[in-house]
Amino acid sequence: MIILDSLTKRYGDFTAVAGIDLEIGEAQIFGLLGPNGAGKTTTLRMIAGILRPDSGRVLVAGHDNVLDPIEARKLLGFVPDRPFVYDKLTGAELLRFSAGLYGLTGPEVEARVDELLELWDLAPWKDQLVESYSHGMRQKLIISSALIHRPRVLVVDEPMVGLDPRSAWLLKDVLRTFAQGGGTALVSTHTLELAESLCDRLAVIDKGRVVASGSIEDLRREARSETAGLEEIFLKITRGATDSEIARVVGD
Ligand code: ATP
Repeated sequence: MIILDSLTKRYGDFTAVAGIDLEIGEAQIFGLLGPNGAGKTTTLRMIAGILRPDSGRVLVAGHDNVLDPIEARKLLGFVPDRPFVYDKLTGAELLRFSAGLYGLTGPEVEARVDELLELWDLAPWKDQLVESYSHGMRQKLIISSALIHRPRVLVVDEPMVGLDPRSAWLLKDVLRTFAQGGGTALVSTHTLELAESLCDRLAVIDKGRVVASGSIEDLRREARSETAGLEEIFLKITRGATDSEIARVVGD
């Protein structure tokens, strides 16, 4: 459903994404992991069509998102890590505005707005300005806006940031139900417990390249351990400071 083919992005002389190849099928939740600055957000923005690749391409259900952006975007919902929200709209107005971007209007949109707001316990805030929403409420509104047009592909950058435990549980349930219905969910996260419990397949990226990918069992093999949890695998695959270096900087 999503194909990344030699996807590359440079900022000036710096290569943030260095030729990523990935195939992410239907009916699954795919996790993108990697250290700070690895290139996750840059990759997700290219998939969402917000950033243009320098080379390589993104196919969403067969549609190249640069050559055929309208078809690709119709199929895709995107939850960015730092969303821009129009504070002077109400929650319902923001969702109607999002629906309008896909050419959707009328009673069906009203019903969809109501069901999404009810799902996330935001119905009492339907006609309140977004400026009065808390951080977590905004996150839930942005997720609703990404789902408004019933996309087949959902791309979520750091989904759990700001969500309370009940909302985080609900989001996991939403993602699982979405995938069980045949959807493709791509989620970037630093929460390894979330990745381990939720994702069917994973890719670890580091310095703009895929350094490991597959199921958790595949990653265990990659890390040469039959029992390792994802934290241990992640630390093995993406090397950072050693204990002795840490002790030198902050120890006695
Ligand atoms: P984190 O986990 O910290 O959010 P990330 O894996 O999402 O990191 P990106 O935000 O994709 O990483 O950034 C990848 C690299 O590209 C980083 O080194 C970052 O400094 C650089 N970068 C990102 N955006 C820009 C930009 N607009 N201009 C220049 N460099 C950028």
